[in-house]
Amino acid sequence: MMSNDIVGRLLGGDRRALARVVTLIENNAPDARSILAELHAHGGKAHVVGMTGSPGAGKSTLVTQLSRELRRRDQRIGIVAVDPSSPFTGGALLGDRIRMQELAGDPNVFIRSMASRGSLGGLAAATRDVVRALDAGGFDTIIIETVGAGQAEVEIVRAAQTVVVVTVPGMGDDIQAIKAGILEIADVFVVNKADRPGADQTVAELRMLMSLDAERKEKPWRVPIVKTSAASGQGVPELADKLAAHLKSLRETGQLASRSGQQARSEMLALLNQALQERIAATVSPEEWDRLIEDVVNRDRDPYTAAEIIARRIGMV
Ligand code: GDP
Repeated sequence: MMSNDIVGRLLGGDRRALARVVTLIENNAPDARSILAELHAHGGKAHVVGMTGSPGAGKSTLVTQLSRELRRRDQRIGIVAVDPSSPFTGGALLGDRIRMQELAGDPNVFIRSMASRGSLGGLAAATRDVVRALDAGGFDTIIIETVGAGQAEVEIVRAAQTVVVVTVPGMGDDIQAIKAGILEIADVFVVNKADRPGADQTVAELRMLMSLDAERKEKPWRVPIVKTSAASGQGVPELADKLAAHLKSLRETGQLASRSGQQARSEMLALLNQALQERIAATVSPEEWDRLIEDVVNRDRDPYTAAEIIARRIGMV
């Protein structure tokens, strides 16, 4: 009853209903699930853009400028700023809020910051659900901004259709992060702070790195490298063009559907995994765990048998 009402209002563009649903998601409220089930049927229209890069690369400045540009193109923008490393609303998130203040007054822009909620899986799931709510709410572009370039960020931006990796001239350490797994997921590279010396060299380094990736050559989309100066807004219209071009390419090559399929599969697996863990936690006591662990450590039992005992306890076998 209550959920129908809030869903109807959210679908009708009511910001307060949207803010309420986002809070329910963040609090993992029991009501959230049925609301999300209804909202899911109304989504699938937004372009979801993930943006990641090292702290200080200029992501929030860039997101602010990009949002302005997309507003000029008459789009409604949702921004989800996610910090997997900080359990509190720490400096970075607070900074985002202050910097993005100018956008916050615009009724066609919705901004929400999210910090860690215990597990990465939980944060990634909450991020996906907030995106789902924004999508149903009719936002044209939803930007997921996340700090850093590690596994956690990769997991979070996987919910996006277009992944932007932001780097700056003279990146050094960033190159390592890029080699370590960001390269494969980037659909667009941005070299921000292009007003500083060394931007062209960074572009050349990135090109070189990408040329080493044999798999990339087989793919229809050539990952563009866009130079921006978020401080002045230079290069931002080009970035907006590249994002639109990527979405168009995904549609034309059928990859939009296959990405959605992959995302649905991994979301379902993540939910099952979570359910499994919850079932184990509810069924097997810490003492029982300790006994089994001790048995395995003492070599009275092997880990396969110990795992099977747990599987039996939760009714898996
Ligand atoms: P984030 O941590 O990646 O979100 O980075 P911020 O957006 O907070 O930016 C970090 C700092 O870099 C801030 O002081 C910005 O003003 C500055 N900055 C952002 N973009 C540019 C740029 O294009 N050129 C220059 N010179 N500074 C920039």
